Amino acid sequence: MKNKIGLHWFRKDLRLNDNPSLSLLTSHVDELVCVYSLDEITVLDSTILPSNNEIIGKHRANFILQAIIDLDSSLQQFGQQLIVLHNNSLAPLLNLIDSLGVTDISAEWYCGVNEQYQWRQLQSMRPQLNFIQENGSTLFKASQFPFSIDNLPTTFSPFRKKVEKYCEVLALEEPIKTMPPSGIGPVRFESIKINGLSTSQSHYTALEGGETGAWQQLKYYLWDTDLIATYKTTRNGLDGWGFSSKLSAWLAQGCISPKRIYYELIKYEAERTKNESTYWLFFELLWREFFHWNHFIHQATLFSAGGVQGVIKASRVDLKTIQSWQTGHTGYPIVDACMRQLLNTGFMSNRGRQLVASCFVHELGQDWRYGARHFEYQLVDFDVASNWGNWQYLAGVGADPRGHRQFNLEKQAEVYDPHKNFMADWLT
Ligand code: FAD
Repeated sequence: MKNKIGLHWFRKDLRLNDNPSLSLLTSHVDELVCVYSLDEITVLDSTILPSNNEIIGKHRANFILQAIIDLDSSLQQFGQQLIVLHNNSLAPLLNLIDSLGVTDISAEWYCGVNEQYQWRQLQSMRPQLNFIQENGSTLFKASQFPFSIDNLPTTFSPFRKKVEKYCEVLALEEPIKTMPPSGIGPVRFESIKINGLSTSQSHYTALEGGETGAWQQLKYYLWDTDLIATYKTTRNGLDGWGFSSKLSAWLAQGCISPKRIYYELIKYEAERTKNESTYWLFFELLWREFFHWNHFIHQATLFSAGGVQGVIKASRVDLKTIQSWQTGHTGYPIVDACMRQLLNTGFMSNRGRQLVASCFVHELGQDWRYGARHFEYQLVDFDVASNWGNWQYLAGVGADPRGHRQFNLEKQAEVYDPHKNFMADWLT
């Protein structure tokens, strides 16, 4: 019988553990090829594109490079390797599929409009292949919901109440024990470039991309420090490592699955402490879940001015004003401190994100999409559904029953930075 040759296409699932599509493919093919393609969003070669076309900031570029290196070294332990394709179109992937005689292809299901589109394209261009797409990027499958996915609740609270009452988080995958051999001879990537940064130059930051870093952070936040047990009281912090889990960047690149975090939390609750704080991390993961399904339903509407509500609010696009916000020179100290923190680290707290977005839309009166776009560029944890969903929410065009969220910036600064330490640190 003819050999089955499988190809796993890594996208937003840069991990081996709890990766159902990869597990399924691995279990029934004779040879396996593992591929990552630098997609439309991540492909950048600063020698070709003018720098103002760079669409991914250096912090995320660095994180992704580390995640790729980490994935490759995990694959090596199974006698495997990661093939990195340097092109944003499907063409090199199709070439590889054809030249190797691939029979089965898998990729993780992902809510993103680009990922969905590319998968459909691939299906229509190579209909003879066996396609595997399992869901490892969310806690639940659409078929588990007590509503049809087209009737997804329009706001978070009814969604949360229903899933908490009726749905069980999907089970974890069994760890992969062996992998079929690679269909091709050794191809070690030498230097991958993203946005002018290359693998050989990637530098260590506290957020170290890859599955290994994700597990370390989960262990640190739960078992090593018990910080999770006070999460509800600290989560509105502005600066520092311990006030929230910092798992978002790993989740965004799929270095860890949300299910894995959930089940580790359950274990922690059984063995150490179960309280409002431990529940609250799950609550926040449900926000992520909601935004992922919200994106899946609304697709490109997530990027439209009127948002999912279809209401256009008056706004301007004044590039000077936008630039002052981006660089932390608006004159609102709390906003400027947060924006400089973002520029320097690629991270901003949830509280900070709310305040700067509110300022951008309300005080500065700018088109919210320019703010979301800047976040997309800068954030180390950029996640299309969460970013654009939260921006819509704050701009009053998204999944918000209130329709208008404006923060009193002075009051917020008094409450969340009472001794002005955070502002002093970032404004001097
Ligand atoms: P924790 O407080 O420890 O929360 C744990 C996890 O829950 C997070 O890692 C994240 O996966 C999820 N989560 C928490 N809050 C939210 C939320 N409001 N919406 C969706 N998921 C949430 N989060 C991203 O992951 N990527 C983004 O691109 C992003 N853009 C945002 C833009 C704006 C304007 C706002 C207001 C929020 C945005 N968030 C985004 C949500 C939130 O700010 C970050 O998830 C959080 O600050 C990341 O830090 P953490 O991992 O320590 O979070």
